Amino acid sequence: MYDVLIIGGGVSGVSCALLLGSASNKPFASDKKIGVIAHQKTSSLQNAVFNNVYGIPVGKLGSELLTESLDHLTTVYPHVEQILNEKVLKISGEAGNFQITTNSKTYNSKIIVIGIGSGSPFIIEGLEKYVISHKKAAPEKNRIQLKNDDHFVTEGIYVCGTLAGQRSQLAIASGSGASVAGDILTLWNNGNHAQVHDALGK
Ligand SMILES: Cc1cc2nc3c(=O)[nH]c(=O)nc-3n(C[C@H](O)[C@H](O)[C@H](O)COP(=O)(O)OP(=O)(O)OC[C@H]3O[C@@H](n4cnc5c(N)ncnc54)[C@H](O)[C@@H]3O)c2cc1C
Repeated sequence: MYDVLIIGGGVSGVSCALLLGSASNKPFASDKKIGVIAHQKTSSLQNAVFNNVYGIPVGKLGSELLTESLDHLTTVYPHVEQILNEKVLKISGEAGNFQITTNSKTYNSKIIVIGIGSGSPFIIEGLEKYVISHKKAAPEKNRIQLKNDDHFVTEGIYVCGTLAGQRSQLAIASGSGASVAGDILTLWNNGNHAQVHDALGK
């Protein structure tokens, strides 16, 4: 049983995983089992090139980010489990006991975070009732989002990135995933606001 399973290893999903992983020295997060399901082959990031994002070197390829971000996660937070090359097909259950079915296995998690992007015509079974037209994308693009209130979809389900209705810019998607992580850390910390900062001299 995962405490939180993140679905989607793109910008928002890995950003969420990094921040959750970085909290392992906090008493309220140290015993938490965290996983991310990353199915990168069909990611739209494969064709992207970035010149306009804070902290990202000019000309950085999306295909490089897809592998480097997971390497980053492995290097600094190896306790965050990476489930590679599996595509999520179905979600069932309820908060505290969700079942997440991929093309090869079923996983259980107390909380799920969905960051699969807004572009796919395919939506995971079990989420249909939350799907609406994307509010910040051109209508002719037929993008979707999940209904949410500041990333919270329903008890135990969070959405991040463009699927949360955020504009499609890397920095926004990254911040959205981090925002969800902060909310989950705050939940684990009994509602006391949580943040994780590293600083020189500490
Ligand atoms: C060609 C291109 C160029 C871009 N250029 C710029 C730019 O110059 N500047 C800028 O700021 N932004 C740019 N963007 C936008 C930016 O990349 C996106 O806004 C950002 O990646 C969205 O993050 P996300 O986490 O919502 O989705 P993604 O980063 O797309 O991540 C979604 C992930 O979920 C995975 N996934 C999907 N379905 C499933 C499933 N069922 N099970 C498991 N995994 C699944 C996908 O494979 C993917 O890895 C560009 C995007 C593209 C496509």
